[in-house]
Amino acid sequence: MDRRQFIKTTAAGAASAALASCGVKGGKPQSEGTMEMRTNPINGDKVSLLGYGCMRWQMIKDEEGRDIIDQDSVDELVDMAIASGVNYFDTSPAYLQGQSEKASAAALNRHPRNSYFLATKLSNFRNWSREASMKMYYDSFDVMETDYIDYYLLHNIGRGGFEAFSRRYIENGMMDFLLAQREKGKIRQLGFSFHGSQPEFDAMLATHDTYKYDFVQIQLNYVDWKHADGVRNVNADYLYDKITALGLPIVVMEPLQGGALANLPRSIAQQLKERDPDASAASWAMRFVGTHPGVLTVLSGMTYQEHLEDNLSTFTGFKPLSEAELDFLERLATTMKEYPTVNCTACNYCMPCPWGVDIPGTFQHYNRAVGEGDFPQNPQQKDFARLRRRYLLSYDRAVESLRQASHCIGCKECLTHCPQSINIPAELHRIDRYIEKIRREG
Ligand code: SF4
Ligand code: SF4
Repeated sequence: MDRRQFIKTTAAGAASAALASCGVKGGKPQSEGTMEMRTNPINGDKVSLLGYGCMRWQMIKDEEGRDIIDQDSVDELVDMAIASGVNYFDTSPAYLQGQSEKASAAALNRHPRNSYFLATKLSNFRNWSREASMKMYYDSFDVMETDYIDYYLLHNIGRGGFEAFSRRYIENGMMDFLLAQREKGKIRQLGFSFHGSQPEFDAMLATHDTYKYDFVQIQLNYVDWKHADGVRNVNADYLYDKITALGLPIVVMEPLQGGALANLPRSIAQQLKERDPDASAASWAMRFVGTHPGVLTVLSGMTYQEHLEDNLSTFTGFKPLSEAELDFLERLATTMKEYPTVNCTACNYCMPCPWGVDIPGTFQHYNRAVGEGDFPQNPQQKDFARLRRRYLLSYDRAVESLRQASHCIGCKECLTHCPQSINIPAELHRIDRYIEKIRREG
């Protein structure tokens, strides 16, 4: 029996609970243990710590050249996920040009309805009239052929401020309607997903007294834990503390920061590999999120089987991070935020620079120093004088003085040649400012 047959056979008849311990990988046992489960403190649901984000299904072209979801691959991935203990699936009428709900439900409806939790959203960002919002709500039930939704979200709260929330849900009466639907059991749990700044989050959480949310969905990962930009999102440690203080469970989105934490700069990835050669960069990020006990489930948009397999190996027989590992990730996050490395592959396509700048040499030297983590940052740093001297000497050795970043005049001739789309003059000037600061601080 090949892997496809295996998955179809296991998925066809078996309830997920019976299969939760198999940790399927290519039809073979993959990891020791079972899928990590969390208990929803509001209603007692047993939810898998790995949840499926249904916003990145594989797309193919139909006969008329239109983009459609590859239903076969969705069926296969959903079967494999359920067979491995995943029981939370999150979609929206807005995902994948409106196709996600249908494709996800088509795969899920081949399994008993009580073997998984279905999450979807009122994604009425473009048209928040009552009529359009009601239609969107009822369409979700029709499209997904279900008569209840387990986890229903007010989608993308924060964008447009509290006024947008008020327009989309209060003034059109949708909030009262959704609360009544929860009373009737059509919605089992009602929550919201948040993207915004702290004042908007605080204002939204203040409405909990009135609406009694059941859960909140936030962006949480080891960089945004303490280093969010504060505009599009808030430090996740702040959000986490506020939400858990209300006794609400947290659904996590963007555990990989939109994929960035799976595709790290080489120097950072190298540090992770040195610490654990067998662990993927994504698994570090996933373990960080799962280590927090207030997290109910971690959504991951797994397009391909290898993404699912990697996550299954993380969440099956789940191992929380130790304090030392948490510190290690925080150091990496600080470095990534304060001293972002340049994604230069040293291909040399930008060379020669008419002004003689050694572009790849400068980037390589800077990346190496940041990647090794042992570079001068400020005079308060232990051993700053030695690190400073060593850094400046090694820079002079790696890049001749007449070819250093300070000689870039910003003519931009190199820009169009870079396959990595690096803003070369901006990065050179940033590195030069850093070096000048280090020189002055001597
Ligand atoms: S922008 Fe700077 S690095 Fe690029 S070609 Fe001009 S001088 Fe050289
Ligand atoms: S073209 Fe881009 S990637 Fe290649 S060496 Fe220049 S900066 Fe680096």
